[in-house]
Amino acid sequence: MTPGMTIWRCAACRTGFFPERLLCSRCHGETFATDRVYEALIEEISIIRHMLGQENWQPRRIASVRTSDGQRITVGLRDESGPGDTIELFEEGAAPFGRAKPK
Ligand SMILES: [Zn+2]
Repeated sequence: MTPGMTIWRCAACRTGFFPERLLCSRCHGETFATDRVYEALIEEISIIRHMLGQENWQPRRIASVRTSDGQRITVGLRDESGPGDTIELFEEGAAPFGRAKPK
């Protein structure tokens, strides 16, 4: 597990993106550098109750979040955090996850 998750930041105007883009939607720049964000605010929760072809599927919670840098992304949730909660982001493999920030 790696703390934070990767975003791509435009070298010209510093706008951050996820996922990676070919062109910056703000200044049309073509050069990006990776950066990391570590926190996000939960906007909405969904529960995936079934997955085609998976027999022993356990319901999983996913969250639409807005990162501290402004990107709207979907992450897997590892606890009972809900809308309005701030979570910390981390990566397992290449997938982004979130869980409640330690108080
Ligand atoms: Zn830009």
